[in-house]
Amino acid sequence: MEEAARGSLLDIESLEAAELLTLLRSARRMNPLRPRPLLRGKRVVLLFYESSTRTRSSFEIAAKSLGAQTVLVQASGSSIEKGESLLDTGDTLRAVGADVIVIRHPSSGAARVMAAHLDIPVINAGDGMHEHPTQALLDAYTILQHKKSLKGLQVAIIGDIVHSRVARSDCHLLSKLGAKVVLCGPPELAPDLAATIAPGVRVTRHLEDALRGTDVVMLLRVQKERLAGLKIDLNQYIVRYQMTLARLKLARRDAIVMHPGPINRGLELAGDVADCPQARILEQVRNGVPVRMAVLARALGK
Ligand code: ASP
Repeated sequence: MEEAARGSLLDIESLEAAELLTLLRSARRMNPLRPRPLLRGKRVVLLFYESSTRTRSSFEIAAKSLGAQTVLVQASGSSIEKGESLLDTGDTLRAVGADVIVIRHPSSGAARVMAAHLDIPVINAGDGMHEHPTQALLDAYTILQHKKSLKGLQVAIIGDIVHSRVARSDCHLLSKLGAKVVLCGPPELAPDLAATIAPGVRVTRHLEDALRGTDVVMLLRVQKERLAGLKIDLNQYIVRYQMTLARLKLARRDAIVMHPGPINRGLELAGDVADCPQARILEQVRNGVPVRMAVLARALGK
C-alpha cells in the first residue's frame, strides 16, 4: 500500500512518544479565541459518513480559527448515497481543491485506505472500531491540565471497550507516555484479549479493582448501535458497572472523571456523576479545539 501524505494522522499506534508530545505542546500554543491565519487560503474538507457532534464541530472551529475554509460532506445528501465509492469520493474532493480531508467512517481502516490513495494529508476522525487519534490527544491534554505527568499515572477505562476506537487510541497513547491502564467491564465488552492492545494494559472484571488508587476514571458509552448479536443485559451492566458517586469514592480523592461523549445518563454513569466537581467531560470537549488546531497545522506543515 502507498504511503500516506506527510502530515496525515491515521492512528496513535504508529506514532512515537516524541511526536505525541510535540503535538500536545503545539496544542498548548493554540487558542481559538486568538485566531491565527496559519492556514489562510487552505480548504479543509470534513467528510463524515457517521454522525458526530463534538468531533465535527471542533474540527470546523479549529480549521476556521486558523483561517482555513471548511466544507462539510456528509453521507446523507451527497453522492455517497448514490453509491459513490470511498476512493472516488476522495478523488472528487481532491479535484474540487481540498488541501486536507478529515474523515469519519464506520469501517476500520477507511482513513488509511483514503490516505494511501491521495496525495494530500488525511486525518482520521474515527474509523469503525479501530482508532480515534484526536480524541486520545485531547484526553491526554485534559489529563495533563490536572496531573503533572502521565508517567506512572493509573487510568481506569470502564465500559464498552470492545467497540471503542477511543479506548484503543487511549491505550496506545497512555501506554507510550508511561501511564498504567486498567480496562474494566464484562467479558463481552472487555475481553481478556484487550490487554494486548498495548504494553502496560490489564483487564479486570471488578470495578473495585479498577477504581482503587486510580487517578483517572474514564467512562465509555455503551454503544447500543453495535450491540446486536451480543447478549448484554443492560440492567446487569448497570448493577455491576454503572459509575455512581458512591463508587467514585473508591478512586483517589483527586481523581478526575472523563467520558468522550455522548453520555448515556443512567447507563454507564449516574447523572450526578456527569455533573460532579470531579467531572472533566465538558473540558474534554473544549480542549478538542486547540488539539485539532494543532493537528490541522501539522497536517499542512505549520
Ligand atoms: N464519540 C466517540 C466516538 O465517535 C465515542 C462514542 O461514540 O461513544 O467514537
